[in-house]
Amino acid sequence: MTAKRIDGKAVAAALRERIAAEVARFRDATGRAPGLATVLVGEDPASAVYVRSKGKATLEAGMESFAHHLPMITTQGELVALVDRLNDDPAVDGILVQLPLPPQIDERVIITRISPDKDVDGFHPVNAGRLAIGLHGFVPCTPLGCLKLLQGELGDLAGKDAVVIGRSNIVGKPMALLLLKESCTVTVAHSKTRDLPEVVRRADIVVAAVGRPEMVKGDWIKPGATVIDVGINRLPADDDGKSRLVGDVDFNSAAEVAGAITPVPGGVGPMTIACLIRNTFVSAARREGFSYEKSL
Ligand code: NDP
Repeated sequence: MTAKRIDGKAVAAALRERIAAEVARFRDATGRAPGLATVLVGEDPASAVYVRSKGKATLEAGMESFAHHLPMITTQGELVALVDRLNDDPAVDGILVQLPLPPQIDERVIITRISPDKDVDGFHPVNAGRLAIGLHGFVPCTPLGCLKLLQGELGDLAGKDAVVIGRSNIVGKPMALLLLKESCTVTVAHSKTRDLPEVVRRADIVVAAVGRPEMVKGDWIKPGATVIDVGINRLPADDDGKSRLVGDVDFNSAAEVAGAITPVPGGVGPMTIACLIRNTFVSAARREGFSYEKSL
């Protein structure tokens, strides 16, 4: 392996420490802690794990966590009523409704019901629009975490050729907009892109957010490029009965060529949670008119 392994866990831990210090100042100044409300509907085990780890990270940063767990049979009206209550609750600065939701509930209805000023996931169309036209809002946590890793590695990104593989509303599109804001020359690739390996070979920065295990191979990577692997794919158990988590990048071959690369797990994943904590703190600071370290 020649590439530097980007330690997302360590970068995320350092960011969370800086947020905790800012939260302590906030509490002294305002007499209250920033609060994150999480909403889980149903019993999906992966969602339950995500929500638990978000709640734990919230508490570790010195913030309040309000966990709401509703049954699988919850109606859309009941969930809307809860979101309305959280929108009106002054102790709640951020609202996170864990996706996916059960089929009787339309995700778009719920996402647009959350107040854009408490939408710490950054999924509300108002926040998507703010990002698109360069206004302050909330940026989705995963692409924000990827940007922080890239800036930590490369410093100024201006003029770099960046290829984002994937165009989802929660990762690919906001990632492309963030890189454009940093003055990268951005290409967004997707399932209809012709000759993807050739497109990726041009990139100084590759962000893979596809959901296909180990799709991006080492010979697609320009020597020295920085590779951010967003993918989380669980492979079926092999002979020893253990299943493995892998990214969208074939780590071993890519690490022979890249300059730096994130592992899976331990790369982008921890940054997503750290950025959720960051967004919740920033929401509280904005709502209270509290001035905070802008580089957070
Ligand atoms: P989506 O399924 O919403 O989007 C996948 C994108 O990949 C689509 O734009 C699709 O193109 C594109 N795509 C699919 N197949 C190909 C292909 N063969 N070649 C090129 N592009 C292709 O996924 P998400 O954006 O939600 O997530 C992507 C990955 O990131 C998943 O593995 C997910 O688990 C992971 N993830 C990780 C997070 C973390 O915290 N680390 C958080 C969020 C997601 P098209 O639009 O044309 O269909």
